[in-house]
Amino acid sequence: MSQSPKHLAIAGATGAVGIEILKCLEQRDFPVSQLTLLASARSAGKKLTFRGEEIEVKELTPDSFEGVDIALFSAGGGISETFAPHAVAAGAIVVDNSSAFRMQEDVPLIVPEINPGDAPGTSGIIANPNCTTIVSLMALNPMHKAFGGIKSIIASSYQAVSGSGAQGIAELEAQVDAIAKGEPLPDRNVYPCQIAFNVIPQVDKFQENGYTKEEMKMHFEGQKILHAPDLKASVTCVRVPVYRSHAVSITAVFNDKPDVAAARAAIDAAPGVRVVDNPFADTPEFPTPLDCTDGDDCLVGRIREDLVLDNALTFWVVGDQVRKGAALNAVQIAELL
Ligand code: NAP
Repeated sequence: MSQSPKHLAIAGATGAVGIEILKCLEQRDFPVSQLTLLASARSAGKKLTFRGEEIEVKELTPDSFEGVDIALFSAGGGISETFAPHAVAAGAIVVDNSSAFRMQEDVPLIVPEINPGDAPGTSGIIANPNCTTIVSLMALNPMHKAFGGIKSIIASSYQAVSGSGAQGIAELEAQVDAIAKGEPLPDRNVYPCQIAFNVIPQVDKFQENGYTKEEMKMHFEGQKILHAPDLKASVTCVRVPVYRSHAVSITAVFNDKPDVAAARAAIDAAPGVRVVDNPFADTPEFPTPLDCTDGDDCLVGRIREDLVLDNALTFWVVGDQVRKGAALNAVQIAELL
């Protein structure tokens, strides 16, 4: 990489995604001249380690961005809406992990392996797509290119509790602990019902059409990222009692007749995604959330011709949603800059 070192700021540095961004910057040797770590007043004064050096976390304020070249936001949509304009006004380029700006026309929505060249726009903000959408598109894009474009997707997700941040993990742990000890369940703060030993078919708020906001993200963000305005996605997002990495079962209908061997070859030739699919091995091989966790690549298995729909393949894709679904993707966008 031949970038000149940059002054980076991370808004939300103490969160699940913020901490992972620090890891990705270290592991990818991103050229950093200065690092400003920002969070709420609760975390001000706390120290985080970057490349062996302790850096004090400061409270995020409108004045936090003086001299900052790139501001990576991962503190929730409301915080991005309030503070990203201040970062842009101070001359920084914002890479935003929230959904606040994703569908704005002047904001590119980028997965670096898929649409790195999308117009920079005029807002000074680049959006990181939804995590389930990134994981799904990493598998879909090579097939989209190989089989004349995707027409539609029917999918169900299996989403880890870390997708709800540190609080999601804490709620699952507290419930498992109470059940193991035979104690009453503690009060819930995150999920609408018990998540331990259960699955919950609701991620995010319900919309008027009966889908949730999370489910509609795959539809709208998929269209924008793949430049496929006619793409339709019918998605059911489900929270499962898994700590980390989202899995998605997808049936995709293509314009051309797809072929399993060609799909495998296209996926394996694409960056950031690999096939793990050997159903007839002595121990059948397919990817699970544990296989992806802490890794960069999304893994695809169970690829087969769909028995119901014409020109369709059904498959399973798994990816670390804190990493490729958020932190790594944001750092890759920063590398593009
Ligand atoms: P998290 O673990 O709950 O962390 C939230 C971060 O935001 C913390 O650093 C927190 O600081 C900071 N924050 C909260 N209120 C703030 C305020 N008023 N001012 C300044 N900072 C504030 O959440 P997360 O999972 O990292 O998610 C962060 C963002 O990334 C969200 O927009 C989320 O939708 C998105 N995202 C998350 C995932 C995922 O898998 N977790 C995936 C894709 C995208 P304190 O520590 O001081 O509270």
